[in-house]
Order: sequence, then structure tokens, then C-alpha cells
Amino acid sequence: MKHLIGYLLIVGALSSCVDFLDEYHYFVTPELLPFVKLFYTESQKRGFDLPTDGLSVSLYHYRNGDAGDSFNGSLIIVLDPDFVHRNLATGYRGDSLWVEWVVFHELGHGLLYRDHCAGESIMNPHNEHINEYSSNVAARQRMINELFTNCHIYPNK
Ligand SMILES: [Zn+2]
Repeated sequence: MKHLIGYLLIVGALSSCVDFLDEYHYFVTPELLPFVKLFYTESQKRGFDLPTDGLSVSLYHYRNGDAGDSFNGSLIIVLDPDFVHRNLATGYRGDSLWVEWVVFHELGHGLLYRDHCAGESIMNPHNEHINEYSSNVAARQRMINELFTNCHIYPNK
């Protein structure tokens, strides 16, 4: 019960525009909806049936300097509004793919139970390959494949 109360408090703090919250709640801020939809489309292509219950993807200044963050063990994901608006405002596909990278990274934690890893991966915590991801179609496809191939969708609990 203590865990549940903590969860509700966090959701309440992050989603001020939502006044009804329960564990089946689903909220994605409109700016990020295309990226979240694409993540589900890519997962369905690979035979995954990922839940949407409890997912919250919103814009919030949670931690200075980070473009995105997620709460361990939950589907509550926040992206920095300045990062998102700056990259979406340019109209360049490469810039919007930076936003896609961060959304996919955080959903990788939340929905695919991925941890950080080294090398050419969306789960690389240092964003070392974000430039290739946003400029090279083949590299982006490889990294999306890697994201779903190395996931731990059925964790041992
Ligand atoms: Zn991470």
C-alpha cells in the first residue's frame, strides 16, 4: 500500500492536467504521441503485445540536465519540455529523431525492462550513437532492432 501511495503522489505531481488517476490510467502528452505510437507499432511488428495501462509520458523539469527520465519499476516517464520543444521546433527530421531516441530509451526501461548497455544501442546511457541514429536510416533500423531483440520482456520476479 505504501508503494501505491507513492505512485499516486508522483503521478499527481507530474500530471497536473489529469484529475482522475488509477492503475489503468493512460496519458501521453500530444507532442510525444507520434513517438509513443511508433514504439508500439515497432513492438507489434515483432510480436509483442505491450500493455498501455498505467503509462504516463509527459513533459516535466524533473532533473536538471537530463532530456528524459523514468521511475524504476513504473511506467511513468518524463521528458524535459525545453529539449522536446527545441528539437521539434526546427522542423528537421534529424532533430525530431533525437526526441524519438529519448522516448524509445525511456520506454525501453519501462516497457521492455532494458537496462543501460554499452555500444551501439538506444540504451547506451551516454547517447554515443544518437548522431548516427538521427542521420543514418540503416543505423537507426539496427538500433531499433537491437532495442527489441535484447529486451527482457518477461522478467523473473
Ligand atoms: Zn536510461
